[in-house]
Amino acid sequence: MFENTIEFAQLCDDADKLKSFRTRFHFPQHNKKDVIYFCGNSLGLQPSKTEEYVLQELRDWQTFGVEGHFVAKNPWFPYHEFLRTNMSKVVGALPTEVVVMNSLTTNIHLLLVSFYKPTKERYKIICEVSAFPSDQYALQSQVKFHACLPDRQGYNPDDAIIELKPREGEYAIRHEDVLATIEKHKNELALVFIGNPNYYTGQVFNMKEITDMGHRCGALVGFDLAHGAGNLELKLHDWNVDFAVWCSYKYLNAGPGGVAGAFVHEKHCNNTELIRFAGWWGNDPNTRFTMPHDFVPVKSADAWQLSNAPVLPMAALRASLEVFADAGMEDLVAKRKKLNDYLRFVINEAIKRNKQGKNIFIITPEHEHERGAQVSLICKKNGKQIHQHLATKGVVADWREPEVLRMAAVPLYNSFTDVFEFGKYFDEALQLHQQ
Ligand SMILES: *Cc1c(COP(=O)(O)O)cnc(C)c1O
Repeated sequence: MFENTIEFAQLCDDADKLKSFRTRFHFPQHNKKDVIYFCGNSLGLQPSKTEEYVLQELRDWQTFGVEGHFVAKNPWFPYHEFLRTNMSKVVGALPTEVVVMNSLTTNIHLLLVSFYKPTKERYKIICEVSAFPSDQYALQSQVKFHACLPDRQGYNPDDAIIELKPREGEYAIRHEDVLATIEKHKNELALVFIGNPNYYTGQVFNMKEITDMGHRCGALVGFDLAHGAGNLELKLHDWNVDFAVWCSYKYLNAGPGGVAGAFVHEKHCNNTELIRFAGWWGNDPNTRFTMPHDFVPVKSADAWQLSNAPVLPMAALRASLEVFADAGMEDLVAKRKKLNDYLRFVINEAIKRNKQGKNIFIITPEHEHERGAQVSLICKKNGKQIHQHLATKGVVADWREPEVLRMAAVPLYNSFTDVFEFGKYFDEALQLHQQ
């Protein structure tokens, strides 16, 4: 189905209906040419409109001072509302179920306050082994926080946190093992919280079935979609996921440290009794400025907001979400699948053709429902040199010690020609660095 030729790659580009979106991004340059940017899973490229959107707010601040909250072109008082609809489309939610706020790890904590409510019987959390460090620290510290309450002494993270593991000799976690682990702990389980896809292997989990199983076993289910938002087809509302969080600087292209997102299912976000750490921006906007003594939560995910909106980074996110709205997640996902298939194809061609190929293999699962834009490669030997060679050819990919090369072909701005060219340089690297 695929061919490892420039003509084939160009034909795919010609047939690509999202082809023109590439021109809506700034590319770093290498020898006066666009780099082959395969790091959109780490920091997405800057949309060309971003600068104008941020400058607009800076200028309105110059012109209006405090009045800008109401008279700026995009008034700052309701600024977060301008992002709501487009963000909800990215994650498959109702607009009232999403809010843009804080950073990702902050949002993990805020939502765990509401959704990790351990009791003496039910206190365990299931997560994936080697979760992103920040997620591990958040879960461990939440367990410790509850353990210091007077009636909860004796809990500790080693007992409370159950890690899903691949089987011996495997890299991905089998779906049946995920479901079986949830079932096994059904009497003590408070929460399932999984990063999807896994940041290291790129494995995509079946969120719907995990959510169903978690609910059947009496637990709540949340996801960290740092690598999922803008990458996977998500239906958080329909899948009945309890909550989710994500950052916006990876596939969502909102810039370094961009404002993060959170989802709270309708069935929870209208519940004004839910425990949460509250701030004035979560209060009903109709009474917010009457400075009421008691907190009256908005009946939406906005109730989790603490502070007034950081308008400058939100302006960057707004520019980027408009690009997503124009492209549409459905077409993006369709292109992402084909790009990812092609990327795997050119990698495997180089592996087959070269002696050095015996030291290299893809650990991201092959099954199409178990992968997104990312490919993770284990390089048993000379991995660093291979990464270095790619860098000298203008390929931006991510090297993780001790042996993993991660890359992502992103449907908004990567082309099939990018993938072909990458394959050529990867093949060269394997010839140069044999062992
Ligand atoms: C990128 C990433 C983070 C980063 O957290 P920040 O709070 O944005 O610094 C956390 N968790 C996962 C799974 C990630 O992929």
